[in-house]
Amino acid sequence: MDIIKLENISKGFLFDGKRKDILNGVNLNVKKGEIVAIIGPSGSGKSTLLNIIGGLDNSYEGEAVIDGVSLKSLSDNQLSKFRNEKVGFIFQHFNLLDHLNCYENVYLPLYFSSGMKESEIRQRIEYLFERVRLTHRVRQYPPTLSGGEKQRVAIARALLMRPAVLLCDEPTGDLDDNTANAILDLFESIRNEMSVTFVMVTHEERITRIADDIYSIKDGILVKV
Ligand code: ADP
Ligand code: MG
Repeated sequence: MDIIKLENISKGFLFDGKRKDILNGVNLNVKKGEIVAIIGPSGSGKSTLLNIIGGLDNSYEGEAVIDGVSLKSLSDNQLSKFRNEKVGFIFQHFNLLDHLNCYENVYLPLYFSSGMKESEIRQRIEYLFERVRLTHRVRQYPPTLSGGEKQRVAIARALLMRPAVLLCDEPTGDLDDNTANAILDLFESIRNEMSVTFVMVTHEERITRIADDIYSIKDGILVKV
């Protein structure tokens, strides 16, 4: 089964009374556990597309079906639940909260979700810090970490709810070559271990190294490479 199925997704907006297209009939099928890279220049519609897959944007034409559910059929509450439980987001600038330590940053998604026992939460978080090799940093605050370490905290946070899909928007955009490669290796091992599906969007060719499928996007048109 395809975990992600985009059917003829279009999105535009009015500019000076004329419609400007951002996405233009995008079709995409991704199987569980695949890593997909979408490469395109700035302004090509990458973040817009990722936000649609992640349920952050629901004003578009066409259909986005994630894990068998059409996002347009969901109420606002169901959509927040979907975002919290089914998808994890990874960003270029990490988006950690500087006044919370690493542990608290990773804990954050649980403020919006209940029902898990405190002991299970602790175990899960400890495991994730081991997994991203940051156990020695759990009590530190983000400003004291390197870029690569911040991204690894963000990866642990994104995995906390055991999402089916990780959506990565320019995930190595702020990292030097060695650190970027280490993050890509981590993505690959997480995929192998947890069968998480990855969609990465970027202008950086280097990310294709770990991708099963590569697409290019230009002016909102998606083409398989
Ligand atoms: P990318 O992530 O590939 O750089 P985006 O998806 O952020 O591109 O944006 C694609 C295009 O859509 C850009 O030209 C951007 O200026 C435009 N755009 C994005 N969001 C909006 C919006 N809410 N209103 C108007 N234009 C937008
Ligand atoms: Mg973008």
